[in-house]
Amino acid sequence: MKNDALSCSFCGVNKPQTQLLVAGMDAHICDKCIEQAHQIVLEESKTVTKGFQVDLKVPKEIRAFLDTYIIGQDQAKKTLAVAVYNHYKRIKLLQDAQSVELQKSNVILVGPTGTGKTLMAQTIAKLLNVPIAIVDATVLTEAGYVGEDVESILTRLLQAADHDVERAQLGIVFIDEIDKIARKSDNPSITRDVSGEGVQQALLKLLEGTIVNVPPKGGRKHPDQKFIEIDTSNILFIAGGAFDGIERSINQRLNLQAIGYNTKKTAENIDGDNLLQYITPKDIRSFGLIPEIIGRLPVLTHMNPLDKSTLKAILTQPKNALVKQYQLLFEMDDIALTFTSGALDSIVDHALEYNLGARGLRSLCESVLNEAMYSLPETETTELKVTKTYVEERLQKVDLPALKAVS
Ligand code: ADP
Repeated sequence: MKNDALSCSFCGVNKPQTQLLVAGMDAHICDKCIEQAHQIVLEESKTVTKGFQVDLKVPKEIRAFLDTYIIGQDQAKKTLAVAVYNHYKRIKLLQDAQSVELQKSNVILVGPTGTGKTLMAQTIAKLLNVPIAIVDATVLTEAGYVGEDVESILTRLLQAADHDVERAQLGIVFIDEIDKIARKSDNPSITRDVSGEGVQQALLKLLEGTIVNVPPKGGRKHPDQKFIEIDTSNILFIAGGAFDGIERSINQRLNLQAIGYNTKKTAENIDGDNLLQYITPKDIRSFGLIPEIIGRLPVLTHMNPLDKSTLKAILTQPKNALVKQYQLLFEMDDIALTFTSGALDSIVDHALEYNLGARGLRSLCESVLNEAMYSLPETETTELKVTKTYVEERLQKVDLPALKAVS
């Protein structure tokens, strides 16, 4: 048969009228029919997830899963495990149409950057197999100002759920840097506080549980898109922030308490190196979050700073630890990669010295191994043992403070 005489076996259109005609065993299909068939497949797969059930785990199971990815952070893990468990219990009660309604257990995680707040939220989402959106509170502004409206958070969640509204409605939203939208001054009337209290008010609506009209493609660039309604009542919100300087207010409060009567905490048994562990909603309020927001984030917990032994464990222990990842990369070139304990100590010491935190570990490892990854693959080398001396030699050539900017 002449090529032009071919036609689509589904819609009958002739080859010259198509962009593309794909040949099968004894049939052909045109680009339009492929597109249509693809839509049908998408629709069908949505129906399959309609009865979508979250895989409910008990707190100890949640904790055990978190342990495989996250080192330390005991208190935060326990608190989150319970919050997540209660959250999904609450959904179950709603599905069973029970009369007593449980309050939402949205969480606020306070801790220095790079201590694993985002990782915590991501790991929970992985465990429960729900979509997660990670958003930065600093880009949010009140509607009508330059920046993103709070609804954009739900656009992200919807995208993470492959536009399956039901799945999105059971998802997790991690709002990072919530401390950056704290009220800037005690007197909001002086100037418009575009990125502070106004955003908190807008966020409040989402946290409370409401039906929001969400632009599925996001933002103002696509003004004529059809809005999709999303009910936020069953979305779990986890807010994270470093709350730099909040220790001052904690310290002040603790000292006052220590002076008072009938107090269990005395100045002597306060651990001054980690004051965050004593944080209360009152401190968050003094920092500038409005009481309504704090009320909607009822579960408050903290992350501990990462000390030397924690950083060392982060390098080697988690399921996808950096050392394991590099070993895999080298193994693909038939090279057995090992690190001596002294080498790991040295990497950690550099991370601490330059205040690079856990995020810096990756850039440091990259700097240490880059030369080897470049030159070894075409050689006969079958082994690379990274020692303290090797680490120090490699790192001498790197501008370490500059790593901070990229990590
Ligand atoms: P945060 O959100 O608190 O700023 P992240 O969760 O983004 O911090 O952590 C940055 C990176 O550091 C993560 O990708 C992870 O590799 C590592 N990390 C931080 N804390 C831990 C931890 N406790 N256990 C394992 N890895 C961690």
